[in-house]
This record gives sequence, structure tokens and C-alpha cells, in this order.
Amino acid sequence: MNMQNTTAIPSYLSIESLGPWATYLTQIERVTPYLDKALLPWVETLIRPKRALIVDVPIRLDNGVIAHYEGYRVQHNLSRGPGKGGIRFHPEVTLSEVMALSAWMTIKNAVVNVPYGGAKGGIRVDPKKLSMPELERLTRRYASEINILIGPDRDIPAPDINTNEQVMAWIMDTFSMNQGRTATGVVTGKPVTLGGSLGRHDATGRGVFICTVEAARRIGLSIPGARVAVQGFGNVGEAAARLFADAGAKVVAIQDETGSIFNPNGFDVRRVHRHRIETGQLAGVPDAEAIDAEHFWACDVDILVAAALENQITEHNAPAIRARILAEGANGPTTPEADLILQDNKVLVVPDVLANAGGVTVSYFEWVQDISAFFWTEEEINSRLDRIMRDAFAAVWDAAQNKGILLRTAAFVLGCERVLMARKLRGLYP
Ligand code: GLU
Repeated sequence: MNMQNTTAIPSYLSIESLGPWATYLTQIERVTPYLDKALLPWVETLIRPKRALIVDVPIRLDNGVIAHYEGYRVQHNLSRGPGKGGIRFHPEVTLSEVMALSAWMTIKNAVVNVPYGGAKGGIRVDPKKLSMPELERLTRRYASEINILIGPDRDIPAPDINTNEQVMAWIMDTFSMNQGRTATGVVTGKPVTLGGSLGRHDATGRGVFICTVEAARRIGLSIPGARVAVQGFGNVGEAAARLFADAGAKVVAIQDETGSIFNPNGFDVRRVHRHRIETGQLAGVPDAEAIDAEHFWACDVDILVAAALENQITEHNAPAIRARILAEGANGPTTPEADLILQDNKVLVVPDVLANAGGVTVSYFEWVQDISAFFWTEEEINSRLDRIMRDAFAAVWDAAQNKGILLRTAAFVLGCERVLMARKLRGLYP
């Protein structure tokens, strides 16, 4: 984003603290020339979050000390429906990051055409340092603090980094206790016994896999035998790796926050996962060679899945990437500078707002099932997910071909135009 245009920077952030929001601003700047001219008067709506709540989350630790954590919930845009997006517990969460993540949710929800706006939340905390009872108190207090924003028809949280089904169950319960009724539809990603959806656990990784298969088909890359590297071995990376291996690809490199491992013959992904759970690290997996981070990015692979955090692929490591397809399982893993390098090197980037939209798509199915109190089979869920992901991929691919633009730009055109059209039709109040 042209930083001369200081009106683009909200007063509560400085240029230095823009963080991932700067990436998002640049993405909007890059897409703007391709948007329908009739929508341009509304485009500034995309760089102004509708509302942002910062909350203090005090809890009593097990040792009796009172600790304070900073929490956020940002509703970036509600033009197409209630807010929707996950909650992240991470020691480096910032307002700028949550703003960017909420904005990517707005675009993502529009790309797969689920009837939601975009929102995101987070707490600046290292949950691994908390006991289970402390984590429960933290979650319940945070849920109470953001209670003024959330609700099944207002804003529906879901899991994100370091939050899971149990955390969603606590949020659902806290909200329900305050309401005096059980409101399952207030969060998605819940345990199946509490109105969660079959297929939700794997949904994001499955969406990454489906999009990559679609991309591979179009560039003549066969999945059986393809070599795959996966960064991030959490909910998204593990499921994607498993699905690639099941489809006959060779997952030759895996990296997470504990290290990087390599096996030219391909890993048994389920075995790696068991080892990771039992030992808490990747090191020590049988037949694995430990490699350094630099080597990981330079691995000779066909497909690279980035399923960790933002800003992982930068101008420093992008030149080393040899994959033909980079699938963004994480939100915002590639910086705008790296995007240009990957473009020059003919690496096909399947952007986050498309590639990882499978999670929120099945969240939408969960919410529909909760509201209608009628639950679907896993086959129904997976086949509907497959259809939505493949249709969205085709729409983005065709737009990119027709206009001669990158998949990221094409996905943003599709998403932004849907949001701006809704905004325009609703008009300005009062
Ligand atoms: N946290 C996930 C994402 O970034 C899922 C959000 C949701 O299901 O609402 O897309």
C-alpha cells in the first residue's frame, strides 16, 4: 500500500505496527485496478474494519496470582451476513494481525459464497504455559468479554491456531449460560456430541487438498508420485499431508515449530502424527533425516503446502522454492514481495482465501445443521464441500486465465466484488 496515503492507516495503528495488515492493504491495492468500476466508490470499506473490540482478560492462575491477557474480536465486514472467523491463542497475537485475519475471512467467505461477513478473534497468550483449568478460565472470561459481539446471528467464532473443540465447547457453554438457553449455533468446530459437524476436523486440510488436485490437473501434474512438503503439522497440515499420502503422493518433508524432517521415499503420515503426539516433536521419527529450515524451503518438491503462520514465505526464502504449486493452508503465509518472486519463478500460488476455505465452508454446514437441528452424514458433508471447493477453484482459475492475472488477484476480485456489491445494494445508512 502506498504509505503516502495515510488515510489508509487507522489512527490506532502506526506504520511500524501495521504487521499483517500491511500485507492485506497491499493485496487490496493490487486488486483495485481489476474491480468493477461501478463498485470503486465503496472500495475503502475494505480497508476499514467495521468494529474492533480490545478486551482485558484477567484470570486467577492456579498459584493464586491474578494474570491479565489482552484479547481482541474484530468484525471486519458484515455486509453479506453475520461475522464469521476463528479465535487464536498465541503469544504474538496483535490487533494488526487480528484485523488482517478478519479481513481475509471477509474475502474468503465471499469467495466460497457462504452467507457471512468476516471476523476474527484472539488472545495474546502462550496457552502451552497454562494448565487446563487456567485455559478454561481464560476462555470463559474472554467469551464473556466478547459476549456483546457474538451470537448465532451476529458473529460466530470457530477454532484457529491453538484452539480446539474443547475451547469451542467452553465458549458455547459460557454464552449459553448467560442466555439461559443452549445456543449451539454461537460457535462452530464444536465436539460432534454438542452439535458439531462430522468432517469439520479435516475440512480445512481437505479443502487444501481438493484445490491442489484441481490446480495440479490444470498444469498436468499427477498427484500419484508427486513429492510434497508441508510446513505446519497442526490441524490443517496434518490432514492435508494425510490426504496427499492417501492419494499416492509422497510427503517427503515436514516442518513445524519443533524442527524439519526429510525422507525421500515419503513419510507414513499417520505414524509421524502419532510420534508427534507422543513425543511432542518431529525429531526422532523413524527413517527421518533432520534438516534445517533453509533446506526445507529448497527441497526438490512438486507441491509445497504452507500451513503454519503468516509471513513464512518472504523475499528471503521465496527464491529457493522449487515447487510447481504452493498451496496456502495458513492465512497470509506469503508476503507481497514473495508473491512477485514466486510469480517470476512460475510457482503457481493457490491463495489462502481459496485454498483454506474448506474449514469455514464446513463451519457453515455446522451452523446450518445447528439452526435446523437436522444433522447430515459425513458423505453428504464431504461431497458438498468437494462441490463448493471445486466450483470456487474453477471460478477463480477461469477469471485468472481470462484477465491474465494471478490466482490471488482473481480470488480477491471475486471476493471483493461480492462484498462490495452487497455493500452497494444495501446503501449507506442513514
Ligand atoms: N479459523 C479458520 C479460518 O481461518 C476457520 C474459521 C471458521 O470456521 O469460522 O478459516
